[in-house]
Amino acid sequence: MTTTTGPIDLTGKFVASRRRPPRHWMDLTPAQRVESVTELGLPAYRAKQISSQWFSRLETDPANWTDLPVAVRQPVVDEFFPTLLVPIREQFADAGLTIKTAWRAFDGAVIESVIMRYPGRTTICISSEAGCGMACPFCATGQGGLQRNLSAGEIVWQVHDAARRLANGELPGGPARVNNIVFMGMGEPMANYRAVLAAVRQIHAPAPDGLGISARGLTISTVGMVPRIKQLIDEDLPVTLALSLHAPDDELRDELVPLNRHFNVAAVLDAAWDYANATRRRVSIEYILIKDINDQAWRADLLAKLLKARGDWGWFHVNLIPLNPTPGSKWTASRRSDEQAFVTHLERAGVPVTVRDTRGREIDGACGQLAARTRP
Ligand code: SAH
Repeated sequence: MTTTTGPIDLTGKFVASRRRPPRHWMDLTPAQRVESVTELGLPAYRAKQISSQWFSRLETDPANWTDLPVAVRQPVVDEFFPTLLVPIREQFADAGLTIKTAWRAFDGAVIESVIMRYPGRTTICISSEAGCGMACPFCATGQGGLQRNLSAGEIVWQVHDAARRLANGELPGGPARVNNIVFMGMGEPMANYRAVLAAVRQIHAPAPDGLGISARGLTISTVGMVPRIKQLIDEDLPVTLALSLHAPDDELRDELVPLNRHFNVAAVLDAAWDYANATRRRVSIEYILIKDINDQAWRADLLAKLLKARGDWGWFHVNLIPLNPTPGSKWTASRRSDEQAFVTHLERAGVPVTVRDTRGREIDGACGQLAARTRP
């Protein structure tokens, strides 16, 4: 990347400005859709018909949009339905119940999403950016830097495609619906706030305007961009916030999450508490366990103290994630005994804690592993 004129991300690096992805139906609000079909010379009610096909019936083949006259379909497709993402590789793990898809975008950028099926529920882990500018040293995506933000259409595409294939019973495990969506793929969702929020609204909007997936099943995970957390409070969307903390002290967090130098432990925890307090939704505190780096019992005690000092009504839940080492990493996952001691110290302090299961490890589909090694 050689631009010197692009916008600057919060880590201070220049970001190359690129052409924007083509506009898609999924980039438009319901009002803009009506406006756009009218501009195309069609009656306003066509917007609802098109949305019903796309979002309610999950029908992607215009040949089956039989309520639209044949002569109308092609102009509509040309205008509003460019192919945004092409699947270039698919990997299965956990007896086919974890599926990682690598996608190529219009400009060659490669991103990934993961479908995880559990008994009675299905979670989709999606990307919000191609690459990531946050530079966390343990994260595969962070090591490659930021390529660009995704459009709302590109974000929703990942969910729409998964929902369609699940509904049609195309994936191992039989037909299913999408229950949870987590922004834990590539990218920092808060650094692409506008597109992420537009995507969230569409994922959440009842059919036919959107996918009608309960926002309660939606989780936005962030390294702690404090102003954006505050902004999200005002959106009044019941989205779950996950804060990637990883260390309770600034000295270590400055290294593990470089954005900490702008928004430190106290600032991000205050923002997380504000979010919980305003929305009455429990915030998920994400904490990777790295052997001999952040897994000491005293750090568990300090973490418990900091969380409880801000309020004790159960506004937080700690989610421990065994480190999934990136290739060539100097760090590894904690010893079992240290992990257990960390859990015990939190539990003794009355902190609700779970250790996250690490689906899809063998296909690099686990958290922070979405590095898009597939090249176009
Ligand atoms: N940028 C956002 C969302 C993407 S990462 C964030 O940082 O929250 C989603 C989660 O995976 C984060 O909690 C992140 O810290 C974690 N993660 C990243 N790399 C990992 C690794 N190598 N092993 C385990 N978890 C990792």
